Amino acid sequence: MSQPPPTSAFAPTTDPLTPDRDITHAHFQAGDTVVVLKGVAGGELWGDAMRVVAPSWHTPTDEDGWRLRDATGGAQSYVTAHPRYLVHLSRRCPDCLIYLRAMEDTLLTRFADRDELIDCGWYTTTALGQLVHIADIRNGR
Ligand SMILES: [Zn+2]
Repeated sequence: MSQPPPTSAFAPTTDPLTPDRDITHAHFQAGDTVVVLKGVAGGELWGDAMRVVAPSWHTPTDEDGWRLRDATGGAQSYVTAHPRYLVHLSRRCPDCLIYLRAMEDTLLTRFADRDELIDCGWYTTTALGQLVHIADIRNGR
C-alpha cells in the first residue's frame, strides 16, 4: 500500500438554514461562480463549486432555478439547482456572506473534532439532472 485512502464520512445532519433561506432567483446571473455547500472538510466548509449557465426550471420545487456547470462533474456536468442552494464565490455580497457565516457557525462547531471530509447528505441529483435538497424531497415532490 503506497498511500492511505483519503478518509471521508457520511454524516446525515439536519440542515438548519438552507430550507428557510430567502433569496431571489434574480440574485444570481449567468457567469457567476457559486458553491453548493455539502459538508465540512479540515475545519472549513466544503462543497461543489460551479458556474451559473442559464435560467432553468427547477422541477422538484416547481420554481425558477439555475442551470449550473460543474467542471469536475463528469457524467453530470450540468445540474439545475434552486437559488437557495447557491452561495456566491465570485463576489462578496451580504446575502450570501450572512448565510455562509451562519453555516460555518453551526457546522464547524458540530464537527470541530473531526478531520475527515464530512458529507452531510443534503443533496441528491435526479436522473434528469435536478439537484434537490433533502428538505424539498420531504415536501412531497
Ligand atoms: Zn450572493
